[in-house]
Amino acid sequence: MLSDPLTPESPTPAVFLDRDDTLIHNADLPADAFPQTPGDLYLPEHVRLMPGVLDACTRLADAGYTLVVVTNQGCVARGSASIADVEATNDRLRSLLTVNGRPLLAAVYAAPHHPEAVVDHLRAAHPWRKPGPGMILAAARELNLNLARSWLVGDAERDIEAGINAGIAPDRCLRVGGGGIDGLAAAADLILDHPNRAPAQNPAAASTITLTAGTAAPLADRDTRRTVEAAARAIAERTGVPLIALQLDDHSVTATLAAHRLAAMGFMAELRRTTNDWYAHRHGGRPLWPQTDPPAGEDDDRA
Ligand SMILES: [Mg+2]
Repeated sequence: MLSDPLTPESPTPAVFLDRDDTLIHNADLPADAFPQTPGDLYLPEHVRLMPGVLDACTRLADAGYTLVVVTNQGCVARGSASIADVEATNDRLRSLLTVNGRPLLAAVYAAPHHPEAVVDHLRAAHPWRKPGPGMILAAARELNLNLARSWLVGDAERDIEAGINAGIAPDRCLRVGGGGIDGLAAAADLILDHPNRAPAQNPAAASTITLTAGTAAPLADRDTRRTVEAAARAIAERTGVPLIALQLDDHSVTATLAAHRLAAMGFMAELRRTTNDWYAHRHGGRPLWPQTDPPAGEDDDRA
C-alpha cells in the first residue's frame, strides 16, 4: 500500500461548475424535455452543451485546473427521477466533455435532497444542497484540492453562496447568464487572465503507465475488467493520487495519473498487487500481471 504518495506541495486548484444553464441548456429547452416538472432535466437525450463550453473546459483543464461539477438535483427528492436517471444524464455530460479519450471533468457531485421532498429520506436541508458548501468541501477533501486557489462558476445566486460558504473568495465566485458574465467562455477568460492563476508555476505532472497481462485476453472477462477498474478507482481515492483517465482493453490497463512518475509507479504497483491477489485466488495461483521490470510508460507535463 502506498503510505505517502508524492502529492504536490500545493494541491491542485479547481473550477467548480454548476451544471444547468452553466454547462448545459435547461431554461431554454422545449417543454417536452421535462416530462415531470419544468427544469427537472433527467433525460440524457436533452443534454446539450452551451456555446463555448467545450472550449472553455478544455482551456481550464489544460491550464491545470481540476474541473468539478456540483449540481442540485432536487428532482430525485421530488420523485420525478431516480438517482440512476441523474447519473445517466451526468454521464452524457461527461461524454460530451471528453476530448480524444481524455475526460475534462474530474468528478460530478449531485445533491438529490430537497427540504420539501416527497421521498422521505431525501427531505432535508442537506449540507450538500447548494447554497450549502457540502459538495465543494467533499470534492476538496476527496480530490485534494486547494480551495484558496479555486474558482466557482454558476448562473444562480445559490451557486455563488455555495462557493463563498465553502471558503472560496467571493471574487472567485463568478456568476454567468442574465446580469452576470456572458457564459463560461468569458468566465474562463477571466480565470485564465487572473494574475494568481498560478498552477502553471508548479504544474502537477501527468504520468501514463500501462500494465500488460501475462495471458492472452483476461480483461475480456467482465468480472476481471470490473475488478481492475474498481481497484484503480479505490486506490486513487485512498491514496489521493488523482486518476485522470483509465483505459482498458482485453489484455492491458493504462492509467493516466496527475502525479509525478514515482508516485504513479507506486500507484500501479499497488494496482498490480491487489488485482493479482484477487485473480490468483480465482485462477489457481496464476497472476494477472507477471512480475517483470517496472512497467513501461512515459511522462508528460500538463501545461
Ligand atoms: Mg444552474
